[in-house]
Amino acid sequence: MKITKKIVLEEHDMPRQWYNIIPDMVNKPLPSLNPKTMKPLTVEDLEPIFSPSIARQELSQERWIEIPEDVFNLYRIYRPTPLVRASGLEKALDTPAKIYFKNESVSPVGSHKLNSAIPQAYYNKIDGTKHITTETGAGQWGSAMSVACKHFGLDLRVFMVKVSYEQKPFRKAVMNTYGAKVFASPSDTTEIGRKMREQFPGTSGSLGMAISEAVEEAVKDPYTKYTLGSVLNHVMFHQTIVGLEAEKQLEIAGDYPDIVIACLGGGSNFGGIAMPFMRHNLVDGYKTRFIAAEPASCPKLTRGVFRYDYGDTEGYTPLIPMYTLGHDFEPASIHAGGLRYHGAGSIISQLAKDGYVEGQDVQQLETFEAGILFSRVEGIIPAPESTHAIAVAIREALKAKEEGKEKTILFNLSGHGLIDMMSYDKYMHGQLENYEVPQSLIDENVNKIEAIQPK
Ligand SMILES: *Cc1c(COP(=O)(O)O)cnc(C)c1O
Repeated sequence: MKITKKIVLEEHDMPRQWYNIIPDMVNKPLPSLNPKTMKPLTVEDLEPIFSPSIARQELSQERWIEIPEDVFNLYRIYRPTPLVRASGLEKALDTPAKIYFKNESVSPVGSHKLNSAIPQAYYNKIDGTKHITTETGAGQWGSAMSVACKHFGLDLRVFMVKVSYEQKPFRKAVMNTYGAKVFASPSDTTEIGRKMREQFPGTSGSLGMAISEAVEEAVKDPYTKYTLGSVLNHVMFHQTIVGLEAEKQLEIAGDYPDIVIACLGGGSNFGGIAMPFMRHNLVDGYKTRFIAAEPASCPKLTRGVFRYDYGDTEGYTPLIPMYTLGHDFEPASIHAGGLRYHGAGSIISQLAKDGYVEGQDVQQLETFEAGILFSRVEGIIPAPESTHAIAVAIREALKAKEEGKEKTILFNLSGHGLIDMMSYDKYMHGQLENYEVPQSLIDENVNKIEAIQPK
């Protein structure tokens, strides 16, 4: 049997609009709240932090959002990305399942993050922003923002979670190469950073802390704005380019997924590939399953609670209705830095609450085992985050084999791991371990947010 390996989309067939699933949702996400007034968030509430165009887009209820011409032209540097039939993986697993992956690792910075960094830098530019601040976990978002900001002539300050700053020194060099300034977070350049260092000496940092630092700088200066690489609605919209392309590519292949899988940090690469297909579940009665692969050390969908919570540690962000482990939850220092986030965005969380999204937890060692197998049979070394999706795709392909069913599985390869080789090296030397989160730690952090729930 001849298998088409790579399904390529022509540039002129690239989607011209992003998709917003909210108008098609059965239950709309609850509104995010201004924590001072406890009223639904308005554009005015967001404007001290975000540029006005982004603030407006965050609250958009439009189903289709036009991709600006300047953004489209930058997308063309690496988009459309290939959809690849993982025939090597199928053979290695001896499964009747057909496995496809969307290869977002081909972007210049090696991950899907550029899909949102480009429009975020663009909107800031047209709104007159001069300086951008942001946080980064593993450094992927910071790298993407660095190149996007350089393109639009904006300067960038990145707060990088301390553990990643130390684990991934080359990612800092990547950001510096593109011209960004990088600080290990918690840093001593912000008030909240200094407070965190005093309160938790020796902390390895967290995305929540880094966000607090970046937001603090943005609110202090009208020409400085903050950008976030996941969680928020506008980021989800931007990432739907992934799923919209994949849908067209599968159509070329004459296929449609029974299962769509992606790893879950704040939810943007998962939402990006899942939502365009989920639309057909909502509107046309399709029955595709959507699985979010989480690290067992940061299991917000499977073990978190659905509550209002802050997006950061200090409580500078709006209150977001989401599955959360509590904003003080500090995940173990696993190497999938991009998945060390305490909450899932409100759209994904509502869809999970309504049964459209399943969560599956994966332990660190299973993810690296999957990553190494994938490298050897498909030739791409996946990012430690993406290995979570691969591990779940392998589980589902083996289940299909057991059941003797020919399932079509699609997963998102959110990035490559070439700047994460230290983690692979450690794995191969037996130096990585699994982490089980004790229920008491989850309870403790989740109990703390009861006090901030709306009455
Ligand atoms: C940031 C990142 C993730 C997790 O973030 P989401 O917003 O949940 O997609 C996953 N994979 C890679 C490669 C990343 O850089």
